[in-house]
Amino acid sequence: MAENFDQKLAKYAQLAVKTGCNLQPGQELYVSADVTQVQLVRHVVRCAYEAGASNVHVQWSDEVVGRMHYDYKPAESFSEFPEWRAMLLNGTAKRGAAALFITSEDPQIMAGVDQQKLTNWVIASNKACRDWRDGMDFGKNVWCIIGAASPAWARQVFPELPEDEAVAKLWDAILHTARCDGEDPAAAWSDHEKSFHERKDWLNGQHFDALHYSNGLGTDITIGLTERHVWEGGGEVTVDGRFFFPNMPTEEIFTTPDRRRVEGTVVSSMPLNHDGALVEGIRITFKEGRAVEYSAEKGGEVLAQIIETDEGSHFLGEVALVPVTSPIKQTGILFLNTLFDENASCHFALGMGFPECYEGGRQMSKEELLRVGVNDSATHVDFMLGTEDLSIDGIKADGTRVPVFRNGDWAF
Ligand code: ZN
Repeated sequence: MAENFDQKLAKYAQLAVKTGCNLQPGQELYVSADVTQVQLVRHVVRCAYEAGASNVHVQWSDEVVGRMHYDYKPAESFSEFPEWRAMLLNGTAKRGAAALFITSEDPQIMAGVDQQKLTNWVIASNKACRDWRDGMDFGKNVWCIIGAASPAWARQVFPELPEDEAVAKLWDAILHTARCDGEDPAAAWSDHEKSFHERKDWLNGQHFDALHYSNGLGTDITIGLTERHVWEGGGEVTVDGRFFFPNMPTEEIFTTPDRRRVEGTVVSSMPLNHDGALVEGIRITFKEGRAVEYSAEKGGEVLAQIIETDEGSHFLGEVALVPVTSPIKQTGILFLNTLFDENASCHFALGMGFPECYEGGRQMSKEELLRVGVNDSATHVDFMLGTEDLSIDGIKADGTRVPVFRNGDWAF
């Protein structure tokens, strides 16, 4: 018998709680969701208590109200993060809670917002919520981000469809790319994890000194890698050994580059939706790791805001490999949401690097990490560069070149 929509959501909630967060008996769960996701959240809360959660805290938001803050609140207030909220988040992290983030946002909700307010808010919240941020960045807490269709989001992905059909179609795409539309989603994820392992092991065994990217769009760039870089992807393990999937879906294998050794030009291949603005035709030239020249065919002021967030946002924090055969790419849908779109294409990210992508990095301070080439910034913004003609060579310390990508797909 075919499952009805509510049964599908129940299965999805189960996947997020048990497989994504790998929630343990006695553990707390923090859930953040928009008010459009009541049906899914109720399943999540029930699943979490059935799994033995000691407490489930649901942090509701309403994106329309969220937008009103940016339109009406005085600019100075964005540099101050409310104390009570910092206490909630830092305390939750310190008690070892798992966090589940349900993203359903209207891609346009922040369109036209004063970028300075957004930047100030990101900086203020990172400063006030250090334990919360570090809990996730340094592998102390488990966390998982999943997608959920909302009418405002679906309308923009499928503008030609009536709203209810658009929502249904977006849900289908979400459940499909999250590998939640088969008989046994948990088993599908364990198979998925195995394929990540083979590729990560190969890449880690090569000990590349650099990667060289080139394609017909004009990307021609060499990315230096640190001597102790680690390729990650799929599931992650916390410092105390808890396995979890931070992103559902996920198709990327990524590492953190040597922030000082990026030379050349990269051209984006897909529009980037950033806070409601589409940035297209990004072209950035790096010298000794720093973005020295940049432009965009559309949304140039947004790109400038991203790059000028702080000093670290002039440098790369992530390089990720995603083949054109990715199921997300294969849907042919531009989701206008990074969780999905970054898994459709090879990408780089400006800003914060990943301590777990440097051997022993989680035991190092931000200052130590910076010294060895792992970038630090208040921001982390992905942009897509993969194309069907993308070639990537791995370059070893002795200059030997090994094909990693050919025609946008794995070469090994
Ligand atoms: Zn990524």
